[in-house]
Amino acid sequence: MASTFTKMLSGRNTAVLLASLGVGTAATGYMLSDNAALSARDRSKLYPPSADFPDLRKHNNCMASALTPAIYAKLRDKKTPGNWTLDQCIQTGVDNPGHPFIKTVGMVAGDEESYEVFADIFDPIILDRHNGYNPKTMKHPTDLDSSKLTNGVFDDRYVLSSRVRTGRSIRGLSLPPACTRAERREVERVVVTALSGLKGDLAGRYYSLGDMTEAEQQRLIDDHFLFDKPVSPLLTCAGMARDWPDARGIWHNNTKTFLIWINEEDHTRVISMEKGGNMKRVFDRFCNGLKQVEHLIQERGWEFMWNKRLGYILTCPSNLGTGLRAGVHVKLPKLSKDPRFNKILENLRLQKRGTGGVDTAAVGDTFDISNNDRLGISEVELVQAVVDGVNYLIECEKRLEKGQDIKVPAPVSHFKK
Ligand code: ADP
Ligand code: MG
Repeated sequence: MASTFTKMLSGRNTAVLLASLGVGTAATGYMLSDNAALSARDRSKLYPPSADFPDLRKHNNCMASALTPAIYAKLRDKKTPGNWTLDQCIQTGVDNPGHPFIKTVGMVAGDEESYEVFADIFDPIILDRHNGYNPKTMKHPTDLDSSKLTNGVFDDRYVLSSRVRTGRSIRGLSLPPACTRAERREVERVVVTALSGLKGDLAGRYYSLGDMTEAEQQRLIDDHFLFDKPVSPLLTCAGMARDWPDARGIWHNNTKTFLIWINEEDHTRVISMEKGGNMKRVFDRFCNGLKQVEHLIQERGWEFMWNKRLGYILTCPSNLGTGLRAGVHVKLPKLSKDPRFNKILENLRLQKRGTGGVDTAAVGDTFDISNNDRLGISEVELVQAVVDGVNYLIECEKRLEKGQDIKVPAPVSHFKK
């Protein structure tokens, strides 16, 4: 089997490699008349970093809070081995000062090495976004033993559906903001070939976006199985919508309870979901399916991006670690109108979204409630925190129905800082 490095070489385009080796990049020696031939990056080097520093005064994202002129000056001219730069990492956060419903990170990685080469900015953002997790001193745990979960079945009168998802990236291939068309197609090939090895309840097939009709696609989106079209400026400004729908698609089993998205925001998103409140069964299927997918990928000589300090490596720093978002669509007509609702969610480390996904506001009384954290805590602990938190919300709803009072719980602390 080819080594990781050979795969990196074959996966990246040659022009990019030549540039990273310094061929044709000596900007300082150019005469004025040669300027037209300079790349945008070389032109920026004609100016000091202070002249390039983005105007972030109106911004409300983690990147804007953490990026100082000194960090920018230190990192502006660095590149990853795949030729990815700091400016490319932060462009989405510069172009999108805020999001109407959540505080965004404002920064993405172009490849696995981005997190090392630009650690001076990624590390403080990770600390901020992940509730005090310090990637310099802490190690990330993994635990996919779903038998440890307790009280994982919710009251179906409140919980309409349960879902657990994560993302996984294929080592040696650039991430969606940076990948070439060839790399993106390689991700699709590697993953779809591996998935054909899934058997029994998990057996299914791949549906390429390019081969679907508009109506088929919309049906899958409306039924919550498929990612939305790349309408979010967070995605488009990060370069993740390039060449859409080339090499994008969804693989799912026959009952649509185990699904894998290909080449949306991450190389892959692995999802287990079903209607009703049986989070226990959803998590069992998630752990079992994910382990099989990893095995099938490894059998073919590939591996997932992972390291001890950051766990599984994904495009957005908010997903590092487990990449896990365990959530329910839950009806909370009384609690959601209570002024303490947001504080209760915050203290339980839960996030609220609309039922149409991250870019939608809640319609009516039903919310997508999921874990806010991903890093420094194992999969089992995160799903348990969602189970305990959602059970608490349902208890509050029942108390309010009976006219009883509710309490804001003490803040949950996942790990010692
Ligand atoms: P992700 O974090 O997995 O990318 P998004 O917020 O982008 O999730 O939503 C993706 C899709 O998954 C949307 O159609 C959303 O409605 C659906 N979804 C998310 N959570 C649930 C759930 N608990 N039950 C049913 N569908 C869900
Ligand atoms: Mg999404």
